[in-house]
Amino acid sequence: MKKYNYVPVIGLEVHIELSTKRKMFCDCSSEHFQIKPNTNVCPICLGLPGALPYPNKEAVKKCIKFGISFNCMINKFSKFDRKHYFYPDLSKGYQISQYDIPFCEGGHWKSSVNSVFRIKRIHLEEDTGKIQHRKIGSEYFSLIDFNRSGVPLMELVTEPDFSNINDVLDFVKDVQLASRYLEVSNADMEKGSMRLEANISLRKEETGKRDQMKRLPDYKVELKNINSFRFLRSALEAEIKRQTDILKMGDKVIQETRGYNEKTHQTYSQRSKEEAKDYRYFPEPDIPPILHQSKEIDIIKTDIPEMPWMKRQRYKKDIGLKDEYTEIFLKDRKRSAYFEQILLLNKNSGLDLSYIADQIVNKNLDLKYQSPQKLLNALSVEKNKTYASSKEIKNAADSVLKENTKAIEDLKNGKIQILGYLIGSIQKKLNGKGNINEIRRYIENALMEN
Ligand code: ADP
Ligand code: ZN
Ligand code: MG
Repeated sequence: MKKYNYVPVIGLEVHIELSTKRKMFCDCSSEHFQIKPNTNVCPICLGLPGALPYPNKEAVKKCIKFGISFNCMINKFSKFDRKHYFYPDLSKGYQISQYDIPFCEGGHWKSSVNSVFRIKRIHLEEDTGKIQHRKIGSEYFSLIDFNRSGVPLMELVTEPDFSNINDVLDFVKDVQLASRYLEVSNADMEKGSMRLEANISLRKEETGKRDQMKRLPDYKVELKNINSFRFLRSALEAEIKRQTDILKMGDKVIQETRGYNEKTHQTYSQRSKEEAKDYRYFPEPDIPPILHQSKEIDIIKTDIPEMPWMKRQRYKKDIGLKDEYTEIFLKDRKRSAYFEQILLLNKNSGLDLSYIADQIVNKNLDLKYQSPQKLLNALSVEKNKTYASSKEIKNAADSVLKENTKAIEDLKNGKIQILGYLIGSIQKKLNGKGNINEIRRYIENALMEN
């Protein structure tokens, strides 16, 4: 049998819970993390018959803002659709989502080495309730909390453009940073406000063609239950290995949804994957289509700050900062703001920026000096300090020792505190520019000699 090399084909789906005050289609508070179950609910988010949903404008704005920052085209005509499936945490029997006309389409993200990864769409939907399986006494119960039901959920879907795991991780980390920079979500993985799914297949290695022109495998496996960046990496590694082994045996990989087990480091089959037709999508009849004018979109554009990938490029190109410092500043907005002030103030100080970055990142000097100007002053003083030469120390020490014969006798007789006095006197003659250790050594040697 002919042996092939296989290349991973990976596409991502990222869910992000928006940090709006209210839920997506009602006025309930969207707070749901660690609070009393079923306290933020109403007929709309409980899915009671006859309740009428109305979209949250703030959530729509946040979704569009997010889409613009990822270079998406914003649909001026958009709508919500019903996506049907049965599960107890979905009380209506369908989820209000967006099917064929999402708010944002066709964007892209560039990695630090400028590889382009296409974003297919970004749409808005509602989150589901949460089921807890509990044993109370000797009986098992499944409990449902609807506080999360109806919380705005944004879903970003990429094209299957990723072929290595590092790019995947860089991307999802930037999605998290972007959510924070844009203040659309805190995107905490542990709290479930950012959730990852990865679709993966393997294709035979072909040379010559551009990645995006290469034929996609006729199957894909969707990985779910990934709740940290670390698990994303190991789930992908495990799944690539599993699929490689199957293909090398000459078998076919089954299209399905798989979970990841953190303990065994393996993926396991959950269910066969449903297709769009299984969901019986149709336009949500209770919510009219959403129209946007260019003007409104332009206003949202003005609200977008410098994004992490832009800052990364600027730090690389304009100031030549080492990547390790850049990445720390990108993640830590407070430090980053401090460093930005340094950049403004440092124009004439002549201090090296990587040196300053090092003093902040490794010595925490930004905590010691609340004001960036004070840090710069301190670093300048440090830099301009010229130390006294050995000859200058010798001269100063000799004259101090000569003037203090009585003190030296006392020192020799064990009055050790005299040493500090002598060092102080010598340092005074040197205007504080002496090295304390060198002075001490000089005195000790001098005493031993006579
Ligand atoms: P579906 O309609 O089945 O949900 P989509 O085309 O919307 O499929 O893609 C869903 C996700 O699967 C996207 O993230 C996409 O990039 C990814 N994907 C599509 N085809 C493949 C493939 N052959 N291998 C890996 N991922 C894929
Ligand atoms: Zn409600
Ligand atoms: Mg979805």
